[in-house]
Amino acid sequence: MTIFEKIAYREIPADIVYEEDDFLAFRDVNPQAPVHVLIIPKKHIPRIAGAEEADAPLLGRMLVASKKIAQKLGVLESGYRLVVNNGPDAGESVPHLHIHLLAKRSLAWPPG
Ligand code: AMP
Repeated sequence: MTIFEKIAYREIPADIVYEEDDFLAFRDVNPQAPVHVLIIPKKHIPRIAGAEEADAPLLGRMLVASKKIAQKLGVLESGYRLVVNNGPDAGESVPHLHIHLLAKRSLAWPPG
């Protein structure tokens, strides 16, 4: 089981900021911006390239919920970035799908 599944099933602690039946969001332990949250499915999907057609509604709901999470964290108007790292070149370090939500600073483009 990955560390994120352990968080989803409350086996290890995390600062959870939002939850639905099948996904949740919690603060990144090593934040790269003043607001840095990870949105994860509770079921194990290793990465976006490992998602199946049947996962599309869940993934869509996670994306739509990012607005509610941004609102709750007070960054809906100031702006935020969603990032999904897939594979070694992208810097994926935890093999459980997660959407980064980064906000509260000016984010460079293109990303590093
Ligand atoms: P990635 O590099 O895209 O796979 O992102 C993994 C993220 O998970 C990193 O930003 C880590 O700081 C974060 N992370 C790792 N372990 C934990 C944890 N126990 N609680 C919260 N965030 C974590």
